[in-house]
Amino acid sequence: MKKYLVLIIALLIFLTSCTKEVKNYDAIESSKNKSTTLNQFAVLSTLIEGNYLSDITYKQIKAKGDFGLGTFNCLHGEMVALDGNFYQATIDGKVTLVSDTLKAPFASVHNFISDSTFVINSLIKNVDDLKIFLSRYITDNKNIYSFKIHDSFDSLKFRSVPKQNEPFPNLGEVVKMQTVFSQNNISGTLVGYWFPEYLKEINAAGFHFHFISDDKNYAGHVLNCSFKNANAEIDILTNLNLVIPQNSEYQKH
Ligand SMILES: [Zn+2]
Repeated sequence: MKKYLVLIIALLIFLTSCTKEVKNYDAIESSKNKSTTLNQFAVLSTLIEGNYLSDITYKQIKAKGDFGLGTFNCLHGEMVALDGNFYQATIDGKVTLVSDTLKAPFASVHNFISDSTFVINSLIKNVDDLKIFLSRYITDNKNIYSFKIHDSFDSLKFRSVPKQNEPFPNLGEVVKMQTVFSQNNISGTLVGYWFPEYLKEINAAGFHFHFISDDKNYAGHVLNCSFKNANAEIDILTNLNLVIPQNSEYQKH
């Protein structure tokens, strides 16, 4: 009987140690998790046409990512998301937290987990210099790339657009009404994506950056920037999840 008891205890110890090993293995695997899915809410081509009403709420969008960019129903400002916080930048220069009930006719978000980090160590005189520098990291040009770039920027030019009323003008007309903001020596983060040409109906082909300052007082769609030395992170995305608004205003536009 004693022998059996020893055997059972030994078996129990063995089983417990097995379970522990499996758990540890899982923990290691999850820490290595890659983020591969870009969640796209409505598409650029319908936004360009002036389709600015959607039934997709920011509650839904926030559930699908901690990083991203977009806009609001009636084009009420620019959206930037960083570290799980969502901000709305309006033409009066105010930056506020996005409430869950607001809706978006265009937004792109994902959970940012960097695949690699690097330093942008050359003089970036303008946004074209930045695009040229980052292009070396676009090694597979059918994928989607996201970039998180933090620095104290020598100069930064960004914009927001005014809230529209029906009948909506197309996006090109609204951009002509944009308000441009300029700041020098401002610390903050560029939140950006690069989309391949063949997805241009879904999202802007090439680079698209929004900005949020460290103090959260300034945000918007980036028009230009200059800086010397920035820390950058890249996250390569190989899946695209598209959510199509189901409201009649969107569907019948
Ligand atoms: Zn934008």
